[in-house]
Amino acid sequence: MSRRKKTFPCGHKGYGQICHRCLQETLIQEHKKQQKQEWEDTFARDPIDLRHLPTHVVVRARSVIAGLQTQNNYREFGGKRLRHNRLIVSIPITRNYRMLCRDSGSTLIPQEILSHEDYNICKPGG
Ligand SMILES: [Zn+2]
Repeated sequence: MSRRKKTFPCGHKGYGQICHRCLQETLIQEHKKQQKQEWEDTFARDPIDLRHLPTHVVVRARSVIAGLQTQNNYREFGGKRLRHNRLIVSIPITRNYRMLCRDSGSTLIPQEILSHEDYNICKPGG
């Protein structure tokens, strides 16, 4: 067998039976696909649906949710009760997102995450 460069059906030039450029590209794509799948799988473990949110909001929300579970003090996270519904606690997640939790008496149960636009209809009362 000679070590002559050949042109693969894909148009790339190289040695051997398969195009290594395309193989590498395929592996990268597979890896990305796998990482995406792993990321999507993590949402199944969240108490509320975070799929529609930007990644940094998801990460921050998870850390607040975990923090509430261990410390159970919403004030540590800047949370406030709503003026018109004292059983609902609003906790800032990022500048643009807040998480609403329902006070069940002993624990806070995360309900949903609202963007700044969604949230303007219900301001906290302190
Ligand atoms: Zn190729």
